[in-house]
Amino acid sequence: MSDRHPPPERRQSDRVRLLQCLSAEPLAARDLSQTAGLSERDVIEHLQHLHKTLKTQQRCLVVKPAACLDCQFVFHKRTRLTRPGKCPVCRSTHLSEPRFSLA
Ligand SMILES: [Zn+2]
Repeated sequence: MSDRHPPPERRQSDRVRLLQCLSAEPLAARDLSQTAGLSERDVIEHLQHLHKTLKTQQRCLVVKPAACLDCQFVFHKRTRLTRPGKCPVCRSTHLSEPRFSLA
């Protein structure tokens, strides 16, 4: 269990590194995981944290929601930052990934 939870200092510096990878250009979690050298799962975890904390720093994590590529349904109400499994309207799994940028 301790392996999957590195010390807080390291979590902190991972998050700073991820923050530096974010820009005005919207990027998917997969792109960010490659740029920051983190797993996609860690990226999502950090993004969720940044989503909450950045608001107090006059910056904002902008989430471009996932969308269905078949019927154009957009996952506006989705609060989780992970990629949805399938479209609730047409059941398609042909979905775009949520993308993240910094404002
Ligand atoms: Zn759909």
